[in-house]
Amino acid sequence: MKQSSTLLAALLAAAAVVAQEGNISGPTTSKDAMHYSCDPSSCKLPDCNCASTSPPGGLSKDVVPQFILFTADDAVQDYTIDALNQVLKGRKNPNGCPVQMTYFAQIQYTNMSRVTEWFVAGNEIADHTMTHEGDPQSDQIVGNLAALNAFAGVPQSALSGFRAPYLNYTNAMLQRIAAAEFTYDSSSTSSVPVTDPNTDAFWPYTLDHGLANDCLTLQCGTSGPAIKGLWEIPMYAIFDDKGAAGPHLMDPWLDAEQMGDTSKVLGWMQNAFTDHYKNAQRQPFGIYTHPIHFASSVPGQAPQPQVVKAINDFLNWAQPQQPNGANLTSGGTGTSDDTSSPTPSDPYRPFNAAAAQLVNAVALGAAAFGATLFAL
Ligand SMILES: [Zn+2]
Repeated sequence: MKQSSTLLAALLAAAAVVAQEGNISGPTTSKDAMHYSCDPSSCKLPDCNCASTSPPGGLSKDVVPQFILFTADDAVQDYTIDALNQVLKGRKNPNGCPVQMTYFAQIQYTNMSRVTEWFVAGNEIADHTMTHEGDPQSDQIVGNLAALNAFAGVPQSALSGFRAPYLNYTNAMLQRIAAAEFTYDSSSTSSVPVTDPNTDAFWPYTLDHGLANDCLTLQCGTSGPAIKGLWEIPMYAIFDDKGAAGPHLMDPWLDAEQMGDTSKVLGWMQNAFTDHYKNAQRQPFGIYTHPIHFASSVPGQAPQPQVVKAINDFLNWAQPQQPNGANLTSGGTGTSDDTSSPTPSDPYRPFNAAAAQLVNAVALGAAAFGATLFAL
């Protein structure tokens, strides 16, 4: 009896920690702390890309798709996959292909057969350490890769992304990620609204000239290490009625619930999306989840239909907004010389040379957008 009480307490403690993962309460960077400089004439795609609020490759925002980055973190279980299917199953990109997302998976408490299935269905599997350790050492990082490969059959070549548990990362950890030959990290935070002149909502960038996010806690730019060729995909916050003073990052529905009304989160997401898409430079928009929080089949946990509804309402509202002709698919389905006009049967081919350039950059591993998501 004593043992089971102890176990229960431990589980509750773990749940409390998870619930806090990814919370932020204010800006995590400032222009003064950034110390960032990068010359786009020497830092060029596909190997290098400066941190910039503008789309990569000198593209106009008008030819760039609005990406939605949909991610899930932690253990992979029947109930987490069921949760994701409640909002993603049957949903398609404009070109008719199923949407894809990225699961940052740990091996602890994970059902490897579900990892295999999720990967085979076209989703990305990425690394979240073996046992969910903050600021992880190399054995936690590389051990997880080996396990996902050996037990879930995910090819090593497909395991290219990393997110630090608790978003607890350091400059040294980024160097470990680079040494392990990852393509990208996605642990940093964009915490200043995309419409603010001092926003840190940068398009994904390489760390050749250092970090440009989280500079109030980490060494950025010329103050920190430069890591050649490793991509950083910031996690883009959304904001509540308090604007810049009210950022929310992961699982924003939990924050809304604590503020007394889960339905508020739909408005927060819609306002932020509109800012990204119409009022800024179409920097990617993020939906960062721990699926357990809206799973309907977790023993002892009540279903969360209001959260499922908020996510579905958001996606149903956001997806149709962008006119067909301006869209691309994620994942690099085009090529650099594919510059012909779209046709009715295939309206999402790159519709001009500039758009094709972006797709080509993605195909070359420039980012990270390809990692995941779906384009509207
Ligand atoms: Zn986690």
